[in-house]
Amino acid sequence: MIKVAISGVAGRMGREVLKTVLAAEDTELCAAIDVFNEGLDAGTLLGGEPLGIKIASNLAEALTASGAEVMVDFTGPRSVTANVLTALKAGVRPVVGTTGMSREDFIKVSELASNMHLGCIIAPNFAIGALLMIKFAAEAAKYFPHVEIIEKHHDQKLDAPSGTAIKTAEMILEQRGDFQQGLALEEEKIIGARGGKMPGGLRIHSVRLPGCVAHQEVIFGGVGQTLTIKHDSIARESFMPGVLTAIRAVPRLEGVVYGLENLLFE
Ligand code: NAP
Repeated sequence: MIKVAISGVAGRMGREVLKTVLAAEDTELCAAIDVFNEGLDAGTLLGGEPLGIKIASNLAEALTASGAEVMVDFTGPRSVTANVLTALKAGVRPVVGTTGMSREDFIKVSELASNMHLGCIIAPNFAIGALLMIKFAAEAAKYFPHVEIIEKHHDQKLDAPSGTAIKTAEMILEQRGDFQQGLALEEEKIIGARGGKMPGGLRIHSVRLPGCVAHQEVIFGGVGQTLTIKHDSIARESFMPGVLTAIRAVPRLEGVVYGLENLLFE
């Protein structure tokens, strides 16, 4: 059994991870952490029987007292780095779904994970369909270098653009190399109308609306044609097989793996 602590357990993703960890045969919930609902039994989050594990707000204490082997973090961009560093210092392997970590923080986390000889998985998207979308987009970019990304999420999401959109753009940029798209003389009549600009003029457009979960379109343009690669997560269950794969894999790893595709595809 892998002893799993869930950080951000009271959130939308945290509750889904809680269900998953309780249901899987090889994982055991050992700690539940959230700044919200402190002291409540974690079972109340699912409206079911008490689990005998109270929601704690002090991550370091909860990880040490519970003997956690893996910490799954679905909190927010402002707390994720501190949580991951705390876990690594406690000898616990992080599986990170929270998006919005800065480049500098990513480097700090990578260095600590390597120095501690601990595995850490940071995955902007755990849904297999989204990972395939990114893979197909990277392939298409070799032939269609003109590309823009539209991502849509629920209106409670804190960071924009999404981690998935950034990862997609990074993979596309790796494939298409040195290329400049778009019209240099272009003028925005409303600031932001053309979206966020990545290197080479690749644009990312972020839509935030109630009713959305997590959706992305990668639109390629060529002479007389367009190609659209589209993925929709319509329920948070879509992320759970990927989260379980990461929980099972992280004890065998050393250092940071960025993107679940590195564990799934050749
Ligand atoms: P959410 O509903 O706001 O849940 C986050 C939870 O974490 C909240 O209960 C929040 O409490 C709590 N929290 C905040 N700071 C904390 C801290 N320092 N320690 C412990 N708990 C803390 O958000 P969500 O929709 O579940 O999304 C969480 C993250 O996952 C976001 O970054 C989102 O982009 C990402 N996400 C990733 C994937 C993926 O596949 N990788 C998929 C979906 C979502 P308060 O509400 O009191 O602040």
